[in-house]
Amino acid sequence: MAPADADDTRKSTLAFTGDGIDRAGVLRADAAQMDALLKDKNARLVPVWQQRHLIAHAGDAGPRPRYLSFAEAEAHIDLTERPPVFLGMTDQTPWFAIGLPDGTQPPEINDGDFRSLLDVAALLPNQEATLLAYARGMLIWHENHRHCGRCGAAAAVTESGHSRTCTNDACKHRSFPRTDPVVITLVAHPDGTRCLLGRQAAWPKGFYSTVAGFVEPGETLEAAVAREVREETGITVTDARYMSSQPWPFPSSIMLGFRARATTTDIHCDDKELEDCRWFTREEVRAFGERVPGDAQPYKMPPPTAIARLLIDSWLNEK
Ligand SMILES: [Zn+2]
Repeated sequence: MAPADADDTRKSTLAFTGDGIDRAGVLRADAAQMDALLKDKNARLVPVWQQRHLIAHAGDAGPRPRYLSFAEAEAHIDLTERPPVFLGMTDQTPWFAIGLPDGTQPPEINDGDFRSLLDVAALLPNQEATLLAYARGMLIWHENHRHCGRCGAAAAVTESGHSRTCTNDACKHRSFPRTDPVVITLVAHPDGTRCLLGRQAAWPKGFYSTVAGFVEPGETLEAAVAREVREETGITVTDARYMSSQPWPFPSSIMLGFRARATTTDIHCDDKELEDCRWFTREEVRAFGERVPGDAQPYKMPPPTAIARLLIDSWLNEK
């Protein structure tokens, strides 16, 4: 049976997949223009402190990201020490990400609190959640790459934050923001009536999801799907088909969603990554509850903002 296409309506709830920013890559190397854009009266800076985002106090409209002007940012941070990262343009608005110093106390900025993106993503317009995820991913990369991976000298921020270049003249190694591919797979039973879901011991009680794992160097995505499913569940799969993707900067992944068909049915969680793994019928999965307080269902679905849910819903809705 061919997998159904992930339907477009469903995709709209998938967090961090909103479009809208022009990344304007051609501008990154132009230092003078970048300086002008940063000081432009329309410029907006996305502040990140300890991997948290500034969220304005919720009114009737719910939580909204609070952005800074250049002048506000200058008041809180030495911009020569921590240069802003150019994110791109929306209409006449230049966007930058800025990492605030990692003190134990958040900088005091009126009318906002620093909150975890995962806590607020579902409450934000997808376009804004996507922008925050982009800012977060870029700044985490900078935090973790302050020195050259080749010679250990300091690595300077270059190309408006889209690369770092070693300051050792004998080296000059350049590195670029990285994204680590993760394959995440809904495995359908050979007879098509059940799907394979498992849970890790550390997950909230009753929570089951699809199988996921990092792609390794020298491996195709299809091979990574087959290897991860076999390692975690003992199941052999074939016919891995790409469904959809989701940026997941926690800290630096992109989730690549697949559907695959099992050719075996005996489950063995030998590598201990999963504490349990089972075949579930559509009827059983439809009875799963949500991860919200008070939901008494013994089994719980991944949240609607996650690609695992899209993969499961797509299978559930198949005729
Ligand atoms: Zn170097």
